[in-house]
Amino acid sequence: MTVKTKADFKIRTRIMLLYLGLSLLLISIAIPGMFYLISKTLKDSFDSVIKETMNQAESCIVLEEEGIALSNIKDLEEKLLRNGGLFVKIYDENYNELFSSHGASDAFEWCEKEKNWKKENRTIQIHNEQAHIFLVGNVYYNSLLQNLLIVVLLFIPIYLILTAIFTYFMAKTMLNPISKIISTTRTIKAGDWKKRIEDINTKDEIGELAQEFNEMISTIDESYTRERSFTSNASHELRTPVSIIKACSEEALTTNDQQIVKENLETIQFESDRIGKIISQLLILSRGFEGRYNFNPEPLELFECTESIIGTLEEESSKKNITIHNEIEKDRTVCADQIMLTQILINVIGNAIKYGRQNGNIWAHSYSMNNYIWIEIKDDGSGIAQEDLTHIFERFYRGDKTRNRDGVGLGLSIVKWIIDLHHGKIQVSSTIDKGTTFLIGFPQK
Ligand code: ADP
Repeated sequence: MTVKTKADFKIRTRIMLLYLGLSLLLISIAIPGMFYLISKTLKDSFDSVIKETMNQAESCIVLEEEGIALSNIKDLEEKLLRNGGLFVKIYDENYNELFSSHGASDAFEWCEKEKNWKKENRTIQIHNEQAHIFLVGNVYYNSLLQNLLIVVLLFIPIYLILTAIFTYFMAKTMLNPISKIISTTRTIKAGDWKKRIEDINTKDEIGELAQEFNEMISTIDESYTRERSFTSNASHELRTPVSIIKACSEEALTTNDQQIVKENLETIQFESDRIGKIISQLLILSRGFEGRYNFNPEPLELFECTESIIGTLEEESSKKNITIHNEIEKDRTVCADQIMLTQILINVIGNAIKYGRQNGNIWAHSYSMNNYIWIEIKDDGSGIAQEDLTHIFERFYRGDKTRNRDGVGLGLSIVKWIIDLHHGKIQVSSTIDKGTTFLIGFPQK
């Protein structure tokens, strides 16, 4: 047989046991206390009645010429009648009976045989004479207390049973939503990520827990879906150039035509470059996810940085005869990590060239507004369709996939990640065939 520990019991059972324990503790303190108080009050009042009666009996005893006599005995009899259960006998010093109250002979006999009787006596000395007062009283409150005790002892188990049943079902009803949360968790654990907690619309803590839980699962589900599509997109993007390289190499190996061999080798070179680009961008992103990057923000001269990127991209821009106008003020600085700022400018200006038109222009501006230093990169190229604008920062999203074999769809997601890291902002506006403007804001330090 295994012994259940506290943790093995369900919460509702624990609440019930706790409540029962508390009730028992209260009962075991309150009931003896209550009995003590009641019995003390009754005993005190009984004792004071006995004392008063004794005093009254004493005041009846007088000394006359013939010896001890009684006066005002009527008052004493009235008092005894009023109080009931009290009996008095008065004797002279030779124990000759001077007074015996109504029923006193029987009462004095009973009190010898039965419990619950209180006996008192007092000897009075008046000059040379003595008198003896004997009083017996029925301790009526003892039987009263006994009856009360029986009622209370019967009531305690009934109270405890009712309490146990009530708390068990109350706790069960209150914890019902938790059972729903548990069963939903199990369904999700089994793989159904679309399952959500339903029918808990209360505004209490459990309602809040259910809402937070649903939101948490949605966030995890979204990020899982993103990760899954990232992996499948990455493999797809890599598979295409690999297949092209395979086909080209097969063709080059089976032909004697030098021109075809050359063309195939050029394609292989182009696709290898593409694979290299994809891999290096994937590496940047994955280092970002894992937090494996150096981040050293420092004040950087924007004009200088842009100028050096224009130089790096010279070859690409001159192929399309695109003119890049660096109109950034010379003393403008931003606080950013140098390698990361370079990456942003390469990606954004590189895109402006990639999607720019032949003999086009690119303008780089900068200004400060609302506690941000804004860098504006504007081109007069192909523009971005409105339906694409909201997606261009997603990983592997490419505007026109058929036209755009050059792109990978990772450049702007890297830019977005870097900007978030700098607590910056990025905005884009575009008109098809007119051009695109990217606004990149760095917090002004
Ligand atoms: P890609 O490697 O495809 O350029 P990006 O993440 O850099 O990937 O850009 C995502 C998409 O945004 C591009 O495929 C392109 O459709 C669009 N885009 C980005 N910059 C520009 C631009 N200056 N002009 C036109 N389209 C752009």
